[in-house]
Amino acid sequence: MSEGLNLKSMVAGHIANIPRSGIRDFFELVQGREGVISLGVGEPDFCTPWHIREAAIYSLEKGQTSYTSNLGAPRLRSAISDYVEDFFGVRYNDADEILVTVGVSEAIDLALRALINPGEEVIYHEPCYVSYSPSIAMALGKAVPVKTYVEDGFSLRAEEIEKVITPQSKVLMLNFPTNPTGATLDPVEMEKIAELSIKHNLIVITDEIYSELRYTEEKHQSIVALPGMRERTILLHGFSKAFAMTGFRLGYACGPAVLIDAMMKIHQYGALCAPITSQAAAVEALENGAPAVEEMRRSYDQRRQFMVRKLNELGLPTCDPGGGFYVFPDIRGTGMTSSEFAKGLLEAENVAAVPGDAFGEAGAGFLRCCYATSFDELREAMTRMGRFLKSIGVE
Ligand code: PLP
Repeated sequence: MSEGLNLKSMVAGHIANIPRSGIRDFFELVQGREGVISLGVGEPDFCTPWHIREAAIYSLEKGQTSYTSNLGAPRLRSAISDYVEDFFGVRYNDADEILVTVGVSEAIDLALRALINPGEEVIYHEPCYVSYSPSIAMALGKAVPVKTYVEDGFSLRAEEIEKVITPQSKVLMLNFPTNPTGATLDPVEMEKIAELSIKHNLIVITDEIYSELRYTEEKHQSIVALPGMRERTILLHGFSKAFAMTGFRLGYACGPAVLIDAMMKIHQYGALCAPITSQAAAVEALENGAPAVEEMRRSYDQRRQFMVRKLNELGLPTCDPGGGFYVFPDIRGTGMTSSEFAKGLLEAENVAAVPGDAFGEAGAGFLRCCYATSFDELREAMTRMGRFLKSIGVE
């Protein structure tokens, strides 16, 4: 290395300032340990259904190894258009209102970069998925978190959003069901939030990645379907969670053509297109995947009920989440911080769960447990957690 070359100082300021993910920090502690039961990673424990994997294999067998259109393969865009209309009740034109992306992760980044001028504000509810605040920073926007509270089941109230709106507010990000809490959005509040977005001319980015994984009576509803919202909403969805396809790295954005075109401009020079093999599998998932999704949903539901019951019995108050595959027990009664509890549990009992404040300050005093792991492991994890609680005097 040449003398005097300070590489740290070469890193762009707004990137250097992004904190490391609290989840990553925690998983460094987990690595190398034997016999750990992980309630940590937010990933389905199912392998991708066989007929979907088969579609990927056939695609390769047919020699489909090229780029696709930047927007995504026409057949997939057409399948997305039909699926989204059926599931969300909103029709998008497959020619210019749908963009296939490398996971919802890329779609979040594209949507923010396409919309935000430096310093413009993005409002989002916390605790939230770990990528939101860094993605806003990378887009040079200003992150404006709105706290949600356990008393409301971590759902969002419109009045809390209204309090933080300024002339610089441009985007509102929503994610229901929510990672890490599993919260769903009350329909009355959803209507108020839609009215607020229209009144203050906000663009809404709605991350619908857990939409199929709902456990309440009512059918999932997205804000995009409310009057006046389609024209100001970018709907993000993907295949990772409901179809158990995390490794395929595939998602999509639906929205007004002008916004999709702006996102496409970034995508075509960055990713160019999503992988063709994954796109072939995704067509099969959308057209014939519903029975497998329902089977997985039922299985998550049984595990969700078990976890909520067990954690409450152990003395950790836990809301009944309406969606996703996470529970978010309240550990404040132990007198420990989230990190102390998570580290203590890992060291004493080899159970890994993520400290709630990894998802923003509003998650302090909570723990995220992903229940997408076998019943045997969940039972054992709860036995170990019970032992840990006893050892610290909570019974
Ligand atoms: N959005 C939320 C709320 C998530 O929880 C996740 C993954 O955990 C993602 C987006 C990223 O999904 P993908 O695998 O499609 O990039």
